[in-house]
Amino acid sequence: MKLFDLDGRVALVTGGNGGIGYGMAEGLAAAGAAVVIAGRNAEKNEAALRRLGEAGHRAAQIIADVTDEAACQAMVAATVERYGRLDILVNNAGTNIRKQPEDYAMAEWNLIIATNLSSAFMAAQAAYPAMRRIGGGKIINIGSMMSIFGASFTTPYAASKGGIVQMSRALACAWAKDNIQVNAVLPGWIDTDLTKRARRDVAALEERVTARTPAGRWGLPGDLAGVAVFLASAASDFVTGTAIPVDGGYSIQG
Ligand code: NDP
Repeated sequence: MKLFDLDGRVALVTGGNGGIGYGMAEGLAAAGAAVVIAGRNAEKNEAALRRLGEAGHRAAQIIADVTDEAACQAMVAATVERYGRLDILVNNAGTNIRKQPEDYAMAEWNLIIATNLSSAFMAAQAAYPAMRRIGGGKIINIGSMMSIFGASFTTPYAASKGGIVQMSRALACAWAKDNIQVNAVLPGWIDTDLTKRARRDVAALEERVTARTPAGRWGLPGDLAGVAVFLASAASDFVTGTAIPVDGGYSIQG
């Protein structure tokens, strides 16, 4: 369907070498976009690129640490150099350290804020001129259920993911005049490396999440593909500043 067609579009997905980022990258590529995946780990990048290539998708990879402003600029420049334009930026790279608030070192707080929030701002700043030049663009920022809820064991992560929603709204207001739509996606509990660690660290998490989720299961990275295509395509041209839960109903269960 034309509305959702991404033929000729170019996407950059941070943390696209695994988990939710890969699920979104695959969805965007399947809808026709050329996709650049950015991550720190060369082996993971290469493995993801191979999978995308085997599926017949146009894709490239770049090694980037998104906590570094110069790296954010460089990954955008490399994308434009490789494919001639940048239409879609997915700010997905993220990390977490789970502790009680009194136990965090400031270095841990700073790492989580830098990886999950400042990186998205720096990448958006880097992408803005490239998007403006082609008359518009789509920025998709990955929040979390922790954009909505609190939890005792994840204070800096919750701060970063709350910030993602507010930053998306502010950017959406600022750049609507440039035909750039900025939205947030709030995944529920998705089975990835990040949550494998959580299930190890947090007692009975697996069962509690399944019991609370109306869909009766954890999400899979591929569950995020559809919303990525929607928010990256012409279908969402009048949708901006929103935060869309993709959570099997977790956030509406009373
Ligand atoms: P994973 O741990 O599977 O993936 C994290 C990705 O981020 C990896 O590709 C990693 O690549 C990349 N990354 C981490 N730090 C950096 C960095 N400094 N620079 C560049 N890339 C980096 O996690 P998920 O797929 O689960 O998480 C993806 C996003 O979704 C995160 O923002 C997370 O907070 C969010 N989320 C996840 C949920 C879940 O249930 N899984 C729920 C809600 C939100 P590399 O190691 O190569 O750098």
